[in-house]
Amino acid sequence: MPDGRYWLQTLGCPKNQVDSDKLAGVLDTEGYRAASAPEEADLVVVNTCAFIDAARQESIDTVLELSDARAPGARLVVTGCMAERYGRELAEALPEVDLVAGFGRSVVPAALTAPAPRGPAGSARVTLRPRRAVRGAGAGRAASAAAQAFDLLSLPRPPSAAPWAYVKVAEGCDRRCGFCAIPSFRGAQRSRPVADVLAEVEQLASDPAMPVAEIVLVAQDLASFGRDRSAGPGGRPRPTPLVSLTEQVRRLVPRTRLLYLYPSGLTDELVDAVLATGVPYFDLSLQHVSRPLLARMRRWGDGDRFLERIGRIRVRAPRATFRSSFILGYPGETEEDHDALLAFLDQAQLDWAGFFPFSRESGTFADSLEGQVPPALAMERLRECAELQDGITARRRDAMVGDVHQVLVDAPGRGRTVHEAPEIDGIVRLPGNLPAGSFVDVVVTESLGTDLVGEPAAPARALAERPVA
Ligand code: SF4
Repeated sequence: MPDGRYWLQTLGCPKNQVDSDKLAGVLDTEGYRAASAPEEADLVVVNTCAFIDAARQESIDTVLELSDARAPGARLVVTGCMAERYGRELAEALPEVDLVAGFGRSVVPAALTAPAPRGPAGSARVTLRPRRAVRGAGAGRAASAAAQAFDLLSLPRPPSAAPWAYVKVAEGCDRRCGFCAIPSFRGAQRSRPVADVLAEVEQLASDPAMPVAEIVLVAQDLASFGRDRSAGPGGRPRPTPLVSLTEQVRRLVPRTRLLYLYPSGLTDELVDAVLATGVPYFDLSLQHVSRPLLARMRRWGDGDRFLERIGRIRVRAPRATFRSSFILGYPGETEEDHDALLAFLDQAQLDWAGFFPFSRESGTFADSLEGQVPPALAMERLRECAELQDGITARRRDAMVGDVHQVLVDAPGRGRTVHEAPEIDGIVRLPGNLPAGSFVDVVVTESLGTDLVGEPAAPARALAERPVA
């Protein structure tokens, strides 16, 4: 068994975090231990994001920073979306990297199965150079014979360090949105069997050290979960297998949250299932509101339909929370389209929204579209939307002051109501003496933009005392 230490750096979205959790689980079972800092690791792994230009640049910057920071002799591995999508180019462009491991490849370089040569104490920069030369002559970053093919979706899950956990229920996507390269390298959707997902949830929820109280179901296109596996009458896919999954998961944990719902997938029965969880949180992937522009994006819907759907949910659940994301500067976006988006934001009063500039991805439908919007104009539109939304978010947070909310304590000093998704939205700042994993009723005393400040309105309760939905 190896006795090495690893450092795992994750970039990008929560789906990537799930992959990292599973990679950590594999490394743990192979005998590696987590290092407390990258400088102390024998194996440094960067799980990259290839979503847009900015995410790719951040990934490369991180790889270079960690290359400089790592200990002499430590191996540097790049995995995740960039490794899958640009494997060969990355390996050529980054000679610092020992292994570029796309999906289905072990992140342990063959060289690590033998003890890594550890350099003398001193400047890593000085000792790294000869190590690189030696590696280039033999040990190599190319495919290692020892690399094992493995499937991240079905790998075992290590215990969670927090009382919440993302659970990835499917990989890939069957849609072909004009701007998105994900299906080209993540492939068609493949959903996990429901029993596997439930087993993972049960395992997380029953961990004695940190029982998970909140499960966040994620997938590239979550609303389509299970359609690739489940044939209904006449061989047609069942409408929404996600409904049944949500109902089963909510029986196992106090909180079940759904992220990334394609808007046409938000059927009435799925709305019912979400409201029944007690977490009235709707993360709708809208991207824009102009119908012609959405058609150019090869996506469903328009602003009126979105408003109608949001309004109907608010009639049933006035305190429901809505999040969405939007792309600015998609080819062909006009001033009228942009004005329509601003008007929509004003009307919809979403709680949370993310804005991204269009990123031209080679091989996508949008790459060859006419009417490319100058990046500076896209950024100007983005700033305008973000400014409007920041005010809306702040006012919606202000409106919570004085209310009592049940908060799940994520860590000493911080927690979340049902209205905040972990690591995406704001938090509730709490006194530091409340134990992680407990639920506490909190009166909101102050709003600080996205974050709230809360004081316990009643003593904290342990997770075991909480009824599940
Ligand atoms: S649904 Fe999401 S992952 Fe699928 S193609 Fe569209 S943007 Fe990409």
